[in-house]
Amino acid sequence: ARQPELVAKDRRVEFLLHHPVGIVRAALDPAAKLSNPRKSGTLDVVDVTTAQGDTLTLAVDSTTHLPVSVTSMSYNANLGDVAIETAFANYQDVDGLKLPGRLTTKTDKYPTADITVAKNTVNAEAADLAAPAEVKSGPAPSPTAMVTVEEVGKGIWFLAGGSHNSVLVEFADHMELIEAPQNDTRALAVIAKARELKSDKPLTKVLVSHHHFDHSGGIRAAISEGLTLVTHETNKTLFEDLAQRKHSVVQDALAKNPKPLQIETVGNEAVVKDAGRTMQIYHVDGSNHAESMVMVYFPAERLLVQADLYKPANPNAARLPNLIENIQKRKVRVDRHVPLHGPVTSQAQFTKVLETLKVPAATSN
Ligand SMILES: [Zn+2]
Repeated sequence: ARQPELVAKDRRVEFLLHHPVGIVRAALDPAAKLSNPRKSGTLDVVDVTTAQGDTLTLAVDSTTHLPVSVTSMSYNANLGDVAIETAFANYQDVDGLKLPGRLTTKTDKYPTADITVAKNTVNAEAADLAAPAEVKSGPAPSPTAMVTVEEVGKGIWFLAGGSHNSVLVEFADHMELIEAPQNDTRALAVIAKARELKSDKPLTKVLVSHHHFDHSGGIRAAISEGLTLVTHETNKTLFEDLAQRKHSVVQDALAKNPKPLQIETVGNEAVVKDAGRTMQIYHVDGSNHAESMVMVYFPAERLLVQADLYKPANPNAARLPNLIENIQKRKVRVDRHVPLHGPVTSQAQFTKVLETLKVPAATSN
């Protein structure tokens, strides 16, 4: 499908300009603008505005005159404004050109690619890289998210309709949400649907299952809507950082509507309880997927809510034994699985999946 303009620009910059040949050619183009030449240690650094208007910073080794790195600004839904830096190393001679044998990329402080080049070839036959006509002429992606509603217990609603689900939980005097996934678009649509479903009670909190960006991509939207984040204690520092980062390349909901972060953390377990509802939050011990993972259990309804450990549409045999271990350890009895990916399934269906994947239904320890 067609991607937004910002994605197209990012890919063009990443593939064509985060390489010595691309950036040097773009910088030598008479329509390019070079500005702010400066020294930084053993490097000569210059800002480049390409003929197409992309802005990058090029660093060249003062002695060898070989490009050392290219940096450009981009936008990430979780991190906001980020510098993407690609460093070039292990230069080798190829048909009279010097080309890097290794390219390493960092997005902000996080390493995102480390490429060792098996073979550099100059002027080789390249495949047709143009986007197919039907993609080019396709509609721009819709900035809306569909949210479907399924009541899975009295006062418990499964909010689906996309790749990531949420769950809305009613208490005597307020509402809580489980999961604000993906991005502003999804999270704001889920929050709006939650408020529409129960307009007589305030929505006050959102529990975040784990820190992976697809599951925490909506926390800034949730903060902008005045919700308190509830999450495992290992996420506190990261979420504090995400809440205060600059989002100026794209102004997200929190940048437009700043609110202070309110966060409550969970350790080994927590319970949210009133006269009509008990909601148990358990840390998932020993998860090989995320150390920060929590799952939620409703003892009266025997519903288990979890992310990524059991995806009914796409179960992963490597993650199921850990889920079974935690179900046993917490002595919870599950009638239905309410997953944050895929449809709600019965315990009988879950058992069938275990049989098919040859995962033991109980662990011995
Ligand atoms: Zn995950």
